[in-house]
Amino acid sequence: MPEGYCVKCKAKKEIVDAVEEVMKNGRKAIKGRCPTCGTVMFKILGGKASATPQPSNPEAPSGGGSAS
Ligand SMILES: [Zn+2]
Repeated sequence: MPEGYCVKCKAKKEIVDAVEEVMKNGRKAIKGRCPTCGTVMFKILGGKASATPQPSNPEAPSGGGSAS
C-alpha cells in the first residue's frame, strides 16, 4: 500500500482506494483516500531524480507521536 500524508490527520497514512494516474507532464501520481477520515490524498511519484530527498526509514515508529 502506498503511503501519503493526510493533512487532516496530520500524519502519514496508508492510501486506500489508491489509483495510479499519469499527469499531463507524464509523471505518475497516486490518488486515494485516507483510511481514517476519508480525505482525498494525492501523492506524486518521483520520476527520475527526486527533487525532495526522502530519508529512508525502514521502520516507522508506531504509536502516535508528536511529529511536529
Ligand atoms: Zn486522515
